[in-house]
Amino acid sequence: MSNRPQLILLGAPGSGKGTQAAKLVEELTYQHISTGDLLRNEVASGSELGNRVKAIMDSGDLVDDGTVLELLQKNCDLANSQYIFDGFPRNEVQAKALDEHVLKDVASTAIYFDIDLGVLEQRIVNRRVCKGCGEIYNLLFKKPQSDGVCDKCGSTDLQLRKDDNPETVKNRLKIYKESTEPVLKYYEGQGRLSRVDASKGSEEVLKELINVINN
Ligand code: AMP
Repeated sequence: MSNRPQLILLGAPGSGKGTQAAKLVEELTYQHISTGDLLRNEVASGSELGNRVKAIMDSGDLVDDGTVLELLQKNCDLANSQYIFDGFPRNEVQAKALDEHVLKDVASTAIYFDIDLGVLEQRIVNRRVCKGCGEIYNLLFKKPQSDGVCDKCGSTDLQLRKDDNPETVKNRLKIYKESTEPVLKYYEGQGRLSRVDASKGSEEVLKELINVINN
């Protein structure tokens, strides 16, 4: 393993964390762990946990801290991997739990995807996810080359995520402001927070990220 820190990506829904995490996995030796993806997998599998959280996720509310922490712990092995945490922590309780129960004394750095919340709503409702391979598109600035067909795997199933509809997006952004913004202060207070300008194009954001990680 390289001696790069574990990465904690922070930012509002639609700020590009998932897209950049996928690029970092290709460029560097990181594994991507998204609590949103882990929860969606549980829903898709019809597990007891999935059935319990489905309605909460569809409304854009947060799933309870204990459930998400348990799912995260079950799916990461810090002794042998370097992770990009995406979508966790979402509030201060989770930030402290990540430090105390998951990271412990492993080095980590938090990176904030800085972008005006006003522009995010449009970004999110235009987001499409390929059901075949998970590639993320945006009909405003990252369209597939051929309409409705995934560039990577050729699937014609490019979908709007259920919680990306306009009404749910408003709720998710409100919850982000109330719950997740305080997390920035938590990391800032400990001198562990860097920022990237997430309003820039995706290649520029990637360059900024790699700079932050290597310094
Ligand atoms: P995301 O893909 O990160 O936008 O997450 C989708 C949904 O999953 C959120 O709107 C929440 O309902 C749930 N979720 C994901 N991560 C967390 C978390 N760390 N804490 C609570 N709920 C979460």
